Amino acid sequence: MRCKWYLVCPLRRYEREKKIDSGWSAKYCQSEHGWRECKRYKLEAQGIYHPDNMLPNGEIDESLR
Ligand code: SF4
Repeated sequence: MRCKWYLVCPLRRYEREKKIDSGWSAKYCQSEHGWRECKRYKLEAQGIYHPDNMLPNGEIDESLR
C-alpha cells in the first residue's frame, strides 16, 4: 500500500520535472512500509511545518524549487 499522501505530495512535481529520480518514491512513497519511515510523513502526521524541498530522509535539497 502506498503512502496516503502520494498524490498530493510535492515530490510528485519534482518527479514530473525530472528534478529527482524515482528512487525516493520506490523506497518510501510506494513501498509497503517505507512511508512509515518518511520524515515528511511523520511531520505531516504531527501537523508540523516542513518545506516542500524536504526529502523523505529529512534532508533539505536547496536545489529543488
Ligand atoms: S515523500 Fe513521504 S509523505 Fe510524501 S508521498 Fe512519499 S512517503 Fe508520503
